[in-house]
Amino acid sequence: MPPLLAFELPAFLLGLLFGSFLNVCISRLPWHQSISTPRSHCPRCQHPIRWYDNIPLLSWVVLRAKCRDCGATIPWRYPLVELGTALWFMNTLGVFWVRALIEHNGQVGLWMEQRIQAQYFAGGAALILGFLLIGLLVMDWQTHTLPDAFTLTGIVLGFLLVCTQAIFLPTGAEDIHLNPTTRMRMRSPGSFIELGNVAVTGPEHLVFGRVFAILGAAAILWSIRAGYKAVRHREGLGLGDVKLLAMIAAFLGFWPAVLALFAGCLLILPWAAYLLATKKADQATQLPFGSFLCAGGLIAAIAGEPIIAWYSHLL
Ligand SMILES: [Zn+2]
Repeated sequence: MPPLLAFELPAFLLGLLFGSFLNVCISRLPWHQSISTPRSHCPRCQHPIRWYDNIPLLSWVVLRAKCRDCGATIPWRYPLVELGTALWFMNTLGVFWVRALIEHNGQVGLWMEQRIQAQYFAGGAALILGFLLIGLLVMDWQTHTLPDAFTLTGIVLGFLLVCTQAIFLPTGAEDIHLNPTTRMRMRSPGSFIELGNVAVTGPEHLVFGRVFAILGAAAILWSIRAGYKAVRHREGLGLGDVKLLAMIAAFLGFWPAVLALFAGCLLILPWAAYLLATKKADQATQLPFGSFLCAGGLIAAIAGEPIIAWYSHLL
C-alpha cells in the first residue's frame, strides 16, 4: 500500500471523530453550556442519543436525518461538519506529508533538517487551526458569535506550538545575522560556522516574531474597528473578529494572517452584493464577517506558503 494512502485513511477517520466532537462544541459553546455534560441528546425530545445513532456520517444517513424517538429533523450541519473536518484532516496531513517528502528527496544537512521540521510543525498547526476555524465558521454563521473558548484558547495553543518548535529548532536554524558575509564555509557541503555575528537566535526569532505577529494582526482589525466606530458611531466589527485574526496569526504568522483577512474580504464582497441585489439585506444588516475570515484562514493555512511566495515574486 502506498504510504500516502495508509496515512490518509486513518487521518480521514480521525477527522470524522473530531468533526463529531466539533458538532457538540458548535451546539453548546455559543450558549455557554458545558461540552462534557449532559450526554448528547435530541434538542426536541431530550432523549439521549444511543451510541449506534452517534456514528459520524453513517448514522445521519441510516436515520434519514430524523431523530429515532420523535422524528425531529437532524440538520444538514451535522454530517457537513463531520465530512468537512475529515477532509480537512486528510488533505492537511497529505499536503504537508508530501511537501516534507518532496523537500527531503535524499538531501541532508542543517537546512534540510530545518525545512522538514518546519513542515511537520506547519502541518500540526494547520490541523488544529482548521478544526477551530471550521467550528468558528459555522458558529458565526448560525449565531453571530465567536466564542472565546475557541479564539482565546486557539491563540494560546498556536503560540505554545511555536514555543515547542523553538525548543526543537536545530542549532543555528532561523538565526538572524547582522553581517551575513562573514559566514565561513565548512568542509561538508551546506554547513556553515558563524563568526559571532548572530543578532537574534533562531528560537528568539520564532517566539518573539510570533508575539509581534499576534499583536500586529490584532492591531489591524482593532484599528479598523475603532475607525468605523468613530465615523459611523456604531459597532461594525466585533471583538471576536479581532481575536479570530490574532488566532490565525498565532498559528500561521503575520503575513498568512494578512492573506486570510484579504481573502475574507474578497469572499464577503459577492455575498454582500448578492444580499443587496436581492433586497435580503440593507446597509444596516450585520454580516457574519467572522465566517468569511475563517474561510480566508483555511485558504491561508493550506495554500498560504505558495500564494505568498508567488506574490513576493511579483514585486
Ligand atoms: Zn428527538
